[in-house]
Amino acid sequence: MNDQAGQKAPHARKVGVLGGGQLGRMLGLAGIPLGCSFVFLDPADDACAGAAGDVLQAGFADEAAARELAALVDVATFDFENVPESTARALQEICPLYPAPDALGAGQDRVPENELLTGLGIQVPPYHKVSTRTDLLEGLEILGYPAVLKTRRLGYDGKGQAVLRDPEDRERAWQKLGDAELILESFVPFDAECSLVAVRGLDGDTRFWPLTRNVHSNGILKLSLPGVFDEALQMKAAEKVGAMLEHFDYTGVLTVEFFLVGSELLVNEFAPRVHNSGHWTIDGSDCSQFENHVRAITGLPLGETNQVQYSLMFNWIGEMPDRQQAMAIEGLHWHDYGKSPRPGRKIGHATLTAPSMEKLETRAFRLAEIAGGEFPALLKTIFD
Ligand code: AMP
Repeated sequence: MNDQAGQKAPHARKVGVLGGGQLGRMLGLAGIPLGCSFVFLDPADDACAGAAGDVLQAGFADEAAARELAALVDVATFDFENVPESTARALQEICPLYPAPDALGAGQDRVPENELLTGLGIQVPPYHKVSTRTDLLEGLEILGYPAVLKTRRLGYDGKGQAVLRDPEDRERAWQKLGDAELILESFVPFDAECSLVAVRGLDGDTRFWPLTRNVHSNGILKLSLPGVFDEALQMKAAEKVGAMLEHFDYTGVLTVEFFLVGSELLVNEFAPRVHNSGHWTIDGSDCSQFENHVRAITGLPLGETNQVQYSLMFNWIGEMPDRQQAMAIEGLHWHDYGKSPRPGRKIGHATLTAPSMEKLETRAFRLAEIAGGEFPALLKTIFD
C-alpha cells in the first residue's frame, strides 16, 4: 500500500493538476464522467485545460499557489514533468500527490535517471557526463561518432539536443548547449522506436497497454501505431517497466520510451505521466490512459488496458489539416486541444481506428494525403 493512501485519495473526487496543457485537459475530459472535478495550476492565462475545470494562474515554482491548489482538492497529480520537485513536496504536505515526488524528481535529470535504470538492470544507450569541453572530447573519444549531446534537464521533444556526426560538428554543438550541464549519448542505430504505457493502482494492481511503435521527426512524435510487436517483446518491455513501477511504489500512469535494436530494448527516457504516444487509447482501448490515471489516483479499480481496434495516431504540430475533409474518413476521431496554432506547438491529434490492418492502412494514407507535409513519407516507413 502506498504511504499516502491512508490520507484523502480513496474516494477522492476533486483532483488538482499541476499543469493545464492538453494532457491536463484530456485528464479532465476523461475524469468528469467518473464524477470528478478538476482544478489546474498553470502560468498561462489561456491554459487549454480550462475547458475541463477551474484554473489557478501561477508559476510552477510558486509554492504558496501549490498549497492553495492542495487545499481545494482531495488528491493531486501533474501533466508536466518539469514541475520543481520542491513545489511537489510543498503540495504534498497538504494533500496526496500521485505519482509521488520521488518519481517526478527521478526523471528530471538524465544522468541520475540513467543511473537509476542501470541500477535496476535496465539497459540505456552508452553515455558520458559532460560539464566542460574536455569532458566532451573525452566522451567522444570513448563513444565515437555519431553521438547526441543533450541537456541533462528540461529537454523534451528533441529540444536541447545536437547530433554530432563528425569532429566538425563539435564546436557548433558546444556553442549551442555548452552553458548547461550535459550528457553525451551514443547515437543508437535503432530498428524502431516504441513506448510502453503502464498504470498502477493504489492497491498495486498493474496493467500495460500494448507496446506502441512511434515515428518521430525532428525529435517530435508524429505517428503512433500500437499492437504491431510480438508477445515476447511486450513481455520484455513489461518486465522493465514493472521493475520501475515497483521501485517507486508508483501510483498512476508511467510511460517508458525505448529504442528497439534487434530484439533488445534500450530505454531512451521515461515520463511519470500520461503520454503523447498513449493518445490512441482514448479511441482504441476500453479504458484510456487518461481515465485509468484518474482511476488510479482516486483509488478506483483500474479499467481494461486492451486494444479493441486497429489504431493509428497522427500528431498535429503547428497546424491541423482540413477538418471537413479529414472527418469524412471512416474511423477518424478528431481531438482539437483548443490552442492557438504556433510552429512546433502540439495543437491536436487524430486517431484512426479500423476493423483490420488493411483498412487502417488505406485510411491512414488518405489522412496523410490530406495532412500533406512529411506525413505520406513517414507513413511509408511503417507500412513498407
Ligand atoms: P528525446 O527528447 O530524448 O526523447 O529525443 C527525441 C528523439 O530524438 C528520440 O525519440 C529519437 O528519435 C531521437 N534521439 C534521441 N536520443 C537518441 C539517441 N541516443 N540515438 C538515436 N536517436 C536519438
